[in-house]
Amino acid sequence: MRKPFVAGNWKMNKTVEQASLLVADLLPGLQAIQKIERVLCPPFPSLMVISQMIAGTDIGLGAQNMHWEESGAFTGEVAPAMVKEFCDYVIVGHSERRQFFAETDQTVNAKVKAALKMGLTPIVCVGETITENEAGRTAEIVQREVLEGLKDLSSEDAVKLVIAYEPIWAIGTGKAATSQQAEDIIGKIVRGSLADRFGSESAEQIRILYGGSVKGSNAAEFFGMPDIDGALVGGASLKADEFIQICQAAQGSIK
Ligand code: PEP
Repeated sequence: MRKPFVAGNWKMNKTVEQASLLVADLLPGLQAIQKIERVLCPPFPSLMVISQMIAGTDIGLGAQNMHWEESGAFTGEVAPAMVKEFCDYVIVGHSERRQFFAETDQTVNAKVKAALKMGLTPIVCVGETITENEAGRTAEIVQREVLEGLKDLSSEDAVKLVIAYEPIWAIGTGKAATSQQAEDIIGKIVRGSLADRFGSESAEQIRILYGGSVKGSNAAEFFGMPDIDGALVGGASLKADEFIQICQAAQGSIK
């Protein structure tokens, strides 16, 4: 049984004060939900305050990025140990990082290894552009990102991570993939590649999320699919009622 997982990626939104208000709005609803891993990923400056606000709950906290080196002359970067002071999760290889900050499969792989070494759960993002999708290259791109991003990992490590399939054309566009499209890629390509690489028993244990314009009204459809174990939520995670509704839909999907 894979425990459903819903993470909110706040991206570059909310000052510390605004973040605190959002968490105060989220807390009662999120605390009422059980058996779902719920994770908030605010910007770095809010991590300390939010970690204090959620202390004593089972709500998780994640960073949106980190560097793979332990420390050193990397101006503007944040090290794994600094993330671990407040978080148990870290998003790695989000398409916006790949697009705007030149992240590659190799840097994703270095970050995944550094996160696991630090005891952080990486939420590894993969997904194709609209051009790649229209050229029929989705399977090839997604498979490459999964296998290269997880290169050299043992099965013991692989089962600890979470993967998010996020077609780039669906992120922030309001045009989500259909639940069947997402299931096809997640089941056949993502879980299939994991099974080839780590064996089917390990692949069956790895949580795979869908991300891309998930909201309260469409979440249940995705969670009803056998291979979709939750969602990585961008825009809708900034609205307390929407995010709670998505987590409730995940709870409702437990058979
Ligand atoms: C994301 O940023 O990971 C994301 C899925 O964004 P949105 O939900 O806004 O499409």
